[in-house]
Amino acid sequence: MQRLSKLWQRKGVRVGFVPTMGYLHAGHLSLVSRARQLVGSRGKVVVSIYVNPTQFGPSEDFSRYPRDLKHDLGLCQSESVDVVFAPSDKEMYPNKGGEPFSTFVLEGKLSRGMEGAARPTHFRGVTTVVAKLFNLVQPSVAVFGAKDYQQAVIVKHMARNLNFPLEIDVAPICREPDGLAMSSRNRYLKGNLRAQALVLWRSIEKIHAIVCDSSKAIAAGRLKAIVRTLVKREPAARLDYVEFFDPDSLAPVAKVGQGTHMALAVFIGKTRLIDNSRL
Ligand code: AMP
Repeated sequence: MQRLSKLWQRKGVRVGFVPTMGYLHAGHLSLVSRARQLVGSRGKVVVSIYVNPTQFGPSEDFSRYPRDLKHDLGLCQSESVDVVFAPSDKEMYPNKGGEPFSTFVLEGKLSRGMEGAARPTHFRGVTTVVAKLFNLVQPSVAVFGAKDYQQAVIVKHMARNLNFPLEIDVAPICREPDGLAMSSRNRYLKGNLRAQALVLWRSIEKIHAIVCDSSKAIAAGRLKAIVRTLVKREPAARLDYVEFFDPDSLAPVAKVGQGTHMALAVFIGKTRLIDNSRL
């Protein structure tokens, strides 16, 4: 991968990169078309497919995370992706032989709250694998989804802090027609769990309406209580967190107004879903 990227660089070819964990859906493909737009028809688009073990906690769904490389390759081909980079765990994290893996990238501030508080080793895994992928693919621009809003902010920050010579582009969230954010994990939602999962989007819409209708900022605690009540109505749903924060610093705010960002994580049965929106 690195050899190929260097060859492209020497020829002045721009490279657009979309890192994924595979089991691709229309949300991923929207990032691919954004990457293509950004590098043009003479540029190259690289998609990585790698279910990164270091970003999963010990009791999370790493081993059962959905995988279908053949289907993903078909989708990438129909989207005119130039290269699909799908390394193995052994290549990414060698643990035997001369040079076992022992270096991690740790962002120390933005990754503390929300997903970082709920999943303590998650962002260390994300920043480590993204740094490795950036060094392997050496893109001119990498495209991330706003679906994982905190991740996108952290990756942007890491790229600046560590002087990665690339641009980070953040693409909007793709939703199903009823509002559910597209996610590879939606395939876990069997039976009536699919309908219950809509509580994330309903919560966002409800809070959005309240904030838009109010001329004054509203106490975050009051809005959190409203979300808690909405989630409690769904028998299989359990709120992990809901947060209101500054979109750049990710610092929680006490008063919520237009321009505040909202994020929430909800378990629907055993499936943990996340969503977010600017208010
Ligand atoms: P994943 O395969 O879940 O790690 O996601 C790979 C990339 O696709 C990340 O940058 C995600 O934020 C992005 N992504 C996932 N779902 C969506 C979606 N529904 N809309 C936009 N981007 C998404």
